[in-house]
This record gives sequence, C-alpha cells and structure tokens, in this order.
Amino acid sequence: MPELRKDPISQRWVIIASERATRPSDLKPDDPPPAPAFDPFAEGNEDKTPPEIASFRAAGTYANKPGWRVRVVPNKFPALQIEGGLDKRGDGIYDRMRGIGAHEVIIETPKTINTFTGLPDAHVHEILWMYRERLLDLQRDGRFKYGMLFKNVGRSAGATLYHSHSQLIATPTVPQTMQIKLQACQDYFDFRGRCLVCDMVAQETEQNERVVMDSGQFLAFAPYAPRFPFETWLVPKFHSSHFEHHDRTVYEELAFILKRTLLKLEKGLNTPPYNYMIFTSPFHTPPSEHYHWHLEITPRLTPVAGFEWGTGFYINPVPPEDAAEYLRNVKL
Ligand code: ZN
Repeated sequence: MPELRKDPISQRWVIIASERATRPSDLKPDDPPPAPAFDPFAEGNEDKTPPEIASFRAAGTYANKPGWRVRVVPNKFPALQIEGGLDKRGDGIYDRMRGIGAHEVIIETPKTINTFTGLPDAHVHEILWMYRERLLDLQRDGRFKYGMLFKNVGRSAGATLYHSHSQLIATPTVPQTMQIKLQACQDYFDFRGRCLVCDMVAQETEQNERVVMDSGQFLAFAPYAPRFPFETWLVPKFHSSHFEHHDRTVYEELAFILKRTLLKLEKGLNTPPYNYMIFTSPFHTPPSEHYHWHLEITPRLTPVAGFEWGTGFYINPVPPEDAAEYLRNVKL
C-alpha cells in the first residue's frame, strides 16, 4: 500500500510507493561524465574564467595565478547581474524588477576531478569556510535578501561542467521555498514553544530508523517524507539558525560528515547525479529561536515528471527507513 507522508518543514506531501521499487541497484544513474579534454577550472587556466573574487592560496602567490586551493569567480553566464538598482515596478497585474543579484562559482579544487570526496578533510573544511566567507560578504550588500548555496553534480542534476564546484546565488527576494520553511518553523514554534528541527533531531535520534550517521554535533538522516530515493539531510544537533555563524570547529565536523555521507552515496549508488542545497536564514536577520539551518542532499535517480510538476507531490519508490539502512551499511 503506498503511503502519503508530509514533510513538516517544506509542507510538501510525498508518496512513498515502495511497490514500484526496486532494489538500490535497480536505480541506475547516468554514467558519470568523462573528464573533459579542456578544463577551464583547472590550475593554470585562471585566465579562462572571470577574475577571482576570493581564494585560499599559498603564501606568495598572486590572484588569478596558480597556487590556489579554493577559488571563487563570478559565473560567466550569470542568472542574475551584480550591477544596478532593483527598479521594482508593476506591469498591470504583474510585478517585475531588474535581475539584480550575484552568481558566484566556488571552484573547490585546482585538480580536474568531479567530486571532493577524495580530498583530505582539511580541504573540504576550506570549501565550507569559503561558503561562510562568501555569505558573510554578500550580505553586506543591502540589495540582496538571500544567499542560496548549492551544488550540482552530474548532467541530470544540472551540472554543465565536470570540475568539482558549487555555486552561490544571492537574490533580491527571499525564495518561496525558504518563505514556506520559515513560516512552518515559526508556526511550530508559536504552537509548541520549541524548534521544529531540534524536535526532529531528538525524534530521529531516539527512533534511530532513518539515521545514516551521527558525528556528535551533526546528524545525517533520511527525512521522514523524502522527495527522492536516498535523499539525506545534514543538520546540526544543536540549535542554530544561520549556517554562516559558526567557528572553525563546527565546519571541521561538518566537512567530516558531509564527505562521508557523499562517499556512501557514491559507493553505494554508483556515483549518482545529485544536488545539495544549504538552507540558511535570510540575510540581515538576527539569530532566531524558531529556524534551524540544514543541508539537503537530493540524489537524482528517478525523473521528475508531469505528476510532480502538476501537483507538487513527489513519488518516491524507496522508503527512507530502507534508504537509511542501506547507506548505514555502506562501508567506507
Ligand atoms: Zn533548532
């Protein structure tokens, strides 16, 4: 019997239709793309990207030259443009504003590889530290209301370049998905006087049916109502509303658990295409008691088709309890 489940943060319903599945091995990802003949993000090709915005690099090396470990450049084909005012106006019943925002690419390694899971933990830590630096920097610009950090890996997850990278788009409005999450967390807090995600962490830890990994300060688990097979969330087990408000030790631990969770997905599911997104609080907001940041990893093993687009319901053939058990047992 299929089951409908509701995710309390996104308020989204999903259909867990386990009759439609399938063992994990039946979910065949696309073949990982081959390494390109020319890699514009590789060390030595710094002049093939727009000039860098930031980098972590060896002492004595210069911007836009080799010697970097993590490098941030503007997207060559940005979804939003950095210059100008918003110029908000009506157009009859419609609203429009200029496409102002920032679209940055975080090049995660100078090597031509398509995943950072083979890099040392300390390097993954630097990638996360760069996320923090860029979020803190972009929110100094009063035109921007939100910073969405995300990663696309594999063609069917939207990646157009092979080289391991993530992206940050700062937007002039708070995205709708975030508004829904913020409102749901606010409503829960108003009703129960507690943080929804803190309660979720407590319940997941106690039930221990959907936990993939527990690193002490972070929990990796399959959410109760996942849209996609093997969807996995990482959340701090302590309350925190802003991803970018931590000290180094927190990102060190996040690097540890993020790398191992992705390794389990890669090893267990034959390097699937995936996205991850960091849902931090909007810019210019103080620490809040009700919102709790989280990172969502969504492998793309099943297509999103007409039913999903039409209803907002997702059909997931793999119950999260089975997905978590499978990932827990993937040996690293
Ligand atoms: Zn919390």
